[in-house]
Formats: sequence, C-alpha cells, structure tokens
Amino acid sequence: MAKLQTPHAVRGTQDMFGEGQERFAHVIDTFDRVRRLYGFKGVEVPVIEPTAVFARSLGETTDVVSKEMYSFDDRGGDSVTLRPEFTAGIARAYLTNGWQQHAPMKLATAGPLFRYERPQKGRYRQFHQLDAEVIGAAEPIADVELLGFADQLLKELGIASGVVLTLNTLGDGDSRDAWRAALIAHYEAHRSALSEDSIDRLGRNPLRILDSKDPRDIAINDTAPGIDDYLSDAARDFFAAVTTGLDAAGIAWTRNSRLVRGLDYYRHTAFEFITNRLGAQGTVIGGGRYDGLIETLGGPATPAVGWAAGIERLAMLIDAPAGDAPDVVLVPLGEAAENRAIALIAALRRAGIAADMGYKGNMKKRLQRADASGARYAVILGEEELARGEAALKDLRDGSQRSVALSALAAAIIAA
Ligand code: ATP
Ligand code: MG
Repeated sequence: MAKLQTPHAVRGTQDMFGEGQERFAHVIDTFDRVRRLYGFKGVEVPVIEPTAVFARSLGETTDVVSKEMYSFDDRGGDSVTLRPEFTAGIARAYLTNGWQQHAPMKLATAGPLFRYERPQKGRYRQFHQLDAEVIGAAEPIADVELLGFADQLLKELGIASGVVLTLNTLGDGDSRDAWRAALIAHYEAHRSALSEDSIDRLGRNPLRILDSKDPRDIAINDTAPGIDDYLSDAARDFFAAVTTGLDAAGIAWTRNSRLVRGLDYYRHTAFEFITNRLGAQGTVIGGGRYDGLIETLGGPATPAVGWAAGIERLAMLIDAPAGDAPDVVLVPLGEAAENRAIALIAALRRAGIAADMGYKGNMKKRLQRADASGARYAVILGEEELARGEAALKDLRDGSQRSVALSALAAAIIAA
C-alpha cells in the first residue's frame, strides 16, 4: 500500500509552540492589561464578513481589496471574505447592533486576519493584530488617547526605544483633494521613471504611490509635495491640537508630511510606529482617523480613529518572556503513592497552585524533568513518608529538602 502523504500547512500560515507561542501570548496579555488602563472595552467580531463590508470601505483600488482578500462564494452563493483587517468589521458591528447609543466607544480586540501576500519574515497570509478604535469621537483628544495607548503598550513591551511614532495629517476632504492634484502634477512630470504599478496607481489612486516600496518610486516620492501647503485652516488646527496633546502627554513623535496609509478611508491624523529592526517589514503599528468610513457602510456620519498592530512583528521585537512554569511538580514513588498524588495534586490546583506531575521514569529522571520545567518545588511522595502523612518538599533552586505534613503542603508552597 502506498504510504499516505502528510499534509503540509497552508503557505503563509504558522504553527506556534514554545518560545514563539510565549512571545505571541505575552504581546496579547500586555495589550489586554494596557487597554484596561485606558478604558478600552473588549469586543469580538466575526472572522468572516460579507465581501461588501471590506470592498466598499477599504477602497476598491487598494492593494488589500484588489489583490489580497480571501473572498469566496459560500454554499448559499453569498460572497464572503475572511477579514483582512478589523476596522470595517467593527464599524459594521457598530451599525448592526445600534451601538451609537454607547458613543463614544473605546474598543479593543485581537485575533487573526487574512491577506494573500507574498510570505516573508514578518509578513504572513494568516497574521494577527491587536486593534484599538474610538468610535463616535470627533475631538483631537481621542487621537491623543489612542496614541497614548499605543505608546504605553510599546513601553510596557520594552521596545519603545527602538520604535518611532511617525505622524501626518491627511487633512479634510478639501485639503486632500488639493494635495492629490499637486501629487498628480508631480508624478506626471516623472511618469517615465515610475514603477509600472505606480503608473497604474497614478490614474486610479495617486496617494497610494507615496506608500510604494519600489526603489524607483521611492526616489520620486522624496521630492513629492507634502500636505502642508494644501491644508485648510480647520485641518491645520485639528492637527495642531493633536500634536499639542501628544506633547502634553509626553508622547514622542516625528513628522512625515508624505506619510499615507494603505487604505482609503483615512482623514486627518495618520500615523505609523516604525522600527528599523525588522528589515522591510518595519511598520509595527499603523492607524489614523477614519471619519468617512461608517458612511461608506450606509451609516450616519460618525467620526472615529483607530490603530492596528501586527502581533507577529511585536513578538519578534520583544525579549523572550519567562515561559510558563509550574509552581510545583509532584514525584510519586510507587503505585500507592501515585494514587495519593492524584488526590494531592487536585487539592493543590484547587488552592490556586500550578502543579504538574511526572508520569514516567525513575526518581532521578523525574526530578531532572521537574528541574527542567522551571518549577520552584518538587514534592517527593515516598511510601514511608506517606505512611507518616508527610511528603518531602524539595526547593529546586537551592536543593534543600524538608518534610512537610500533607495537610500543610499547600500553605507551605503559597508561603514561599
Ligand atoms: P505593510 O505596509 O507592512 O504591508 P499595511 O499598511 O498593509 O502594512 P495595516 O493594514 O496598516 O498594514 O496593518 C497594521 C499592521 O499589521 C502593520 O503595521 C503590520 O504590523 C501588520 N501587518 C499587516 N500585514 C501583515 C502581514 N501580511 N503579516 C504580518 N503582519 C502584518
Ligand atoms: Mg500591506
């Protein structure tokens, strides 16, 4: 009989275990802690949405919609898409559930996203993001709060010093249109030197050229007009309020007047937290204000601002976190001891002690394994000690050992 072939993982997906999983989990745990400090409530939204949720709001000519979405017809013939980002789905949920009554809402979530991209270091087809949104707030202080959350997250992850907040404003509709016209004039003058992709973008979505990573475009982008000359007074005031707030909150930032974001829905504030430690995949957090998005989904005009952070990229930057280690490992010697150990380990766990038990091998092997687990203690259950109602509590840090009454074991471990 032919040997069955082992299936492989889908390209661009990852299996995580050990340090990789611990890094990943540490990023999410830290996010969850910091979001509470900033009063962001957790939210969960589906991984799958009607395709229109993304196609309409992200912009048909963006890379994500035109080439990266996992869209398919389900068995009922409806076109559905695996979410390539969080914001549109959260905006959809906001409208579906009538969450306007809670506005302004500060929301946070984390989970998997899907984009059909060329996999490389820091770029996957199933990747994961942390996401934070403030919906229903037009005030620049909402932008400041949101950026403060990102800033503190990076600090608590221990990576703030290698990451820079780069900030821009895209202005309001009028500013953007004027800037767009100036950019078209600039690119038309350098048309023959642009990449093919950007010549295509020039006709459809010229702001996108500023975000190009093609070296031919980068040279032309360096001399492209920034937005400053095209800002309306209102847009300028809004941006000044944001930067004043950032300074007051002690959040460091730098200006890049040519920064744009990969999706079409941004207005006013746009930003990226960038590092040079991840090669070409240097953006770890990206976001901005998306006052027009909810209207593109058929809702009322609703100002909002948000960011998304790549969990894998953050996980690569942090120091390896301390792995999960039990407080104690039980080492029963003999069958009778094993039966007592089952009752004892259940009692320890109910008392809130992380306890594990070696199943196999002689005492030496089991102790070695207990040591390797990173546990603070081993509890050795020998027949003689059990007969006296005791166990040996071994401190794995200094090797010392003492007899403790079984009834006092939990207390002795907790007291340490
Ligand atoms: P990039 O310019 O790197 O493609 P983007 O502008 O497409 O990023 P956003 O849509 O703003 O990214 O998503 C926010 C963050 O999510 C990015 O800054 C990055 O950290 C992460 N991210 C985006 N796409 C991927 C991916 N394919 N794999 C891993 N992380 C990703
Ligand atoms: Mg991208």
